[in-house]
Amino acid sequence: MGNKSIQQSFAGSRIVLGAGFALAIFFGCAGNSAAADEYTERREKLIEAIGAQAAVPFAGAPGGRISEAVLAAMRSVPRHEFVPQPFRHLAYRDRPLPIGHGQTISQPYIVALMTELAMVARGSVVLEVGTGSGYQAAVLSRLVRRVYTIEIVEALARSAAKVLARLDYQNVTVRAGDGYLGWPEQAPFDAIIVTAAAPEIPPPLLTQLKPGGRLVMPVGGRTQVQSLMLIEKGKDGRITRTSVIPVRFVPLTRAR
Ligand code: SAH
Repeated sequence: MGNKSIQQSFAGSRIVLGAGFALAIFFGCAGNSAAADEYTERREKLIEAIGAQAAVPFAGAPGGRISEAVLAAMRSVPRHEFVPQPFRHLAYRDRPLPIGHGQTISQPYIVALMTELAMVARGSVVLEVGTGSGYQAAVLSRLVRRVYTIEIVEALARSAAKVLARLDYQNVTVRAGDGYLGWPEQAPFDAIIVTAAAPEIPPPLLTQLKPGGRLVMPVGGRTQVQSLMLIEKGKDGRITRTSVIPVRFVPLTRAR
């Protein structure tokens, strides 16, 4: 009798345990994959919308559309990981979002357009000025050999480096410092992307651009409408400037 009741309760508890275990696994997986699926689905929609947008016609993209290569890179980068927790639910809206220190992660369409304009290739070595969240650097890293990125706010440089390392973007190097001066030790660059606005292109950046290279940067003062500029350096070193679209970026600040 005693034996039987022990067996029953044992069996009973096993079932309960088993069910609890199964439930925990089920909820565990369901919780994570539901969130992952939701982000993937939203990201997919965002990238599709960016791809469908009739962009300004620019050199290298006669139809004015963002290329499949850039869209694929954007599809592979989890933007929500670069957005602070309180704004994660908005990570796949086509808009900039606050990242602290008065700075923002750029609007995804602008990231796509700047990447497109830089016309990078598999072997390119690229400089980004204004790491911010690290998102633009992550997108670039999927398309090129090496990305060097500089951020003037040390706390942002540190947190971007941490996210990039956690997500295993091995070909990105982050440095805290004044990007106005570029990164002479790693120059020259095939492309330079500046994600903060200044009234003029910093001369050190022009110097550090390879002949045949491209620099993309918002140009304009704090109170002016800025213009997204494409700067091309010819093989002969000659500089041509094309104004692409009006934009609004945070200002390029200088180290004191
Ligand atoms: N590319 C970023 C967008 C960041 S916003 C992203 O994908 O999230 C622009 C960033 O430029 C800000 O973080 C700002 O702190 C930084 N910045 C401003 N002036 C700078 C300078 N002189 N050198 C380096 N970074 C600078």
